[in-house]
Amino acid sequence: MAATARSTYDVVVVGLGIMGAATLFHLSRLGVRALGVEAHGPLHGWGSSHGQTRIFRRAYWEGDQYVPLLNRSYAGWLELADAVSETIAVRTGGLFVGSPDSRLVHGSQGTADRCGIGYERLSAGEITHRFPAFHVRDNAVGLYEPDALMLFADRARLHYLSLAVDAGAQLSYGSAVRSVEPGSPDSVTVTGAGWQVDCGTVVLTTGGWIGRFLPDELGPLVRPMRIPVFELDVAEPHARDHAPDRFPVFLFEDAEGALVYGFPRWRSDGGLRIGFHNRQLSPADLDGPRRPPTDPERRELWRTVESLLPGVRSTGRGASCIYTMSPDESFFIGRSQQQPRVVYASACSGHGFKFAPGIGEILAQLATGGDPAVDVSAFSVTRGRLPA
Ligand SMILES: Cc1cc2nc3c(=O)[nH]c(=O)nc-3n(C[C@H](O)[C@H](O)[C@H](O)COP(=O)(O)OP(=O)(O)OC[C@H]3O[C@@H](n4cnc5c(N)ncnc54)[C@H](O)[C@@H]3O)c2cc1C
Repeated sequence: MAATARSTYDVVVVGLGIMGAATLFHLSRLGVRALGVEAHGPLHGWGSSHGQTRIFRRAYWEGDQYVPLLNRSYAGWLELADAVSETIAVRTGGLFVGSPDSRLVHGSQGTADRCGIGYERLSAGEITHRFPAFHVRDNAVGLYEPDALMLFADRARLHYLSLAVDAGAQLSYGSAVRSVEPGSPDSVTVTGAGWQVDCGTVVLTTGGWIGRFLPDELGPLVRPMRIPVFELDVAEPHARDHAPDRFPVFLFEDAEGALVYGFPRWRSDGGLRIGFHNRQLSPADLDGPRRPPTDPERRELWRTVESLLPGVRSTGRGASCIYTMSPDESFFIGRSQQQPRVVYASACSGHGFKFAPGIGEILAQLATGGDPAVDVSAFSVTRGRLPA
């Protein structure tokens, strides 16, 4: 941003991860004069939204309260897929494996039954017959959700931003915001190094950094955590079984409650991306280097998946990423109590990407004084069930 520039917008979106990108897209569709501001570059790896793939599923073991937002987001992903020339989603189906009474299998089936989401229940033998890469113990079962998607993360985000720009939005990269403060009675002032912008409303989609902007409201509730993700090699005779038409996106819950997620092999020269969802989390230094997976972390992951996926091999490849955790592992979406001209979404607790079309639409509606298309009171910071 030019050193002395001072301009005026209807809405400024701070942070262009997937939530900011989707919000900017929806704002631009509403004809709003919008600016998106990002501290880093378009493909940086400091936040949570970068990389190749994410899972979209609706048989949500985490609870029925997510389903209206999931349905809205599902429509949004299909709409984005239709609007762009690159593949941003592949219907791989989703396979959720665990003991019959595990949170994963029992919870996913309960949500699917109550909310009318299509699935098949598979025995251990049926899983291996249909998806030969998986070798499941006899006491485990699977739930298969045929409409689950593998989303392409970087592509989806960049296409949202590109469509937003085509519709009139402006972007500014390398523009770290230092403060968001009330300006005149009907404006907010956004300040960076040598620049200021005035606007009617600010949307904060700063992921793990949200506590720096709303320290009293969200600071104590949000914990940015480092989490490793690994790449496994597929042994050549088994390569075909790990392709997207035979290998769904999956979640696996082991006997100790560890949840592992993974994706099919997408490129013929690539491996399988896999990681723990609820293990190996440690407090993140948001401004420090992203420490790669350690050998003990690698071994722990390998011990959990080696019998499930006998055709893969451990490698030294992997990275670490950020989960922004809330106390109950759900989201914070709403309007600031202290700054009514600020709306926000964060603390996506490692499962927010799939919701971006719905959350982006809601933030755009809140920012322009509209009613949210979906009731998001379950994601309010004032929800009653937050642990102290
Ligand atoms: C390894 C991994 C796997 C995951 N798998 C899944 C999955 O399969 N399915 C799923 O649904 N979800 C998944 N998630 C979760 C999902 O990716 C996140 O919930 C989501 O990406 C959060 O997006 P965000 O836009 O809120 O945050 P971020 O992507 O972190 O974006 C925040 C942005 O704000 C910017 N910013 C911060 N401070 C400032 C400032 N002062 N000025 C300007 N810009 C600033 C940051 O640079 C960053 O770009 C996964 C996450 C990880 C890490």
